[in-house]
Amino acid sequence: MSSGRAIVCHDTHANGGWKMEEVGVRKPGEGELLIEMVASGVCHTDVLIGDLPGGDIDTCVSPRVLGHEGSGYVKEVGKGVTVAKAGDPVLLSFAFCKSCELCKADHVSNCNKFMDLNFGGPYKDFHLASKGGEPEAGGGFFGQSSFASLSVVRECSVVNAKDLVRDKKELELFAPLGCGIQTGSGTVINAAKATKDDIVLILGLGGVGLSAIMGAKVQG
Ligand SMILES: [Zn+2]
Ligand SMILES: [Zn+2]
Repeated sequence: MSSGRAIVCHDTHANGGWKMEEVGVRKPGEGELLIEMVASGVCHTDVLIGDLPGGDIDTCVSPRVLGHEGSGYVKEVGKGVTVAKAGDPVLLSFAFCKSCELCKADHVSNCNKFMDLNFGGPYKDFHLASKGGEPEAGGGFFGQSSFASLSVVRECSVVNAKDLVRDKKELELFAPLGCGIQTGSGTVINAAKATKDDIVLILGLGGVGLSAIMGAKVQG
């Protein structure tokens, strides 16, 4: 068990349910890594899901640590991990199963188990220091729960950035690649396959829309 801090979502933000707390984080198991975060973007999905009232909807489990545009350094690796080793800078994104027909066809963002792996659970990775006892706060949100100084992630959620970033500052800047930037730029570059002969219309200029503009610029 390692000690850190996390924004734990106990109830909606409107009800004062988001709290910065001391937490313990379990050790990484087989195929998992323990990541020390340096930055996390804040996506609309964090705000939306963290503000839904609890109930029987699977996505409204609490307590839970949200956050899904994280970047950081590998602190420890579990058995069988090959994507990165301790000390490597990494970028984090969603989890997928690697074995369903959609994953095998390289459509990992449409994985048949996407909802369970990214929004379900909770996977009880965090132990609340104020309460002691067994881990009880959910992790694994969107494969990472990056609103935490330390978090356990699956190997599939990790992109090794050791040949991409020169220093910690760059690693911090790249954190939003995990959701907003790849969603916006990927829509233009990979889904629409826009070229310099196309005109694209982008509605809304938040993180995703601005990233779509950057993607359009990259495509000419
Ligand atoms: Zn997002
Ligand atoms: Zn899958």
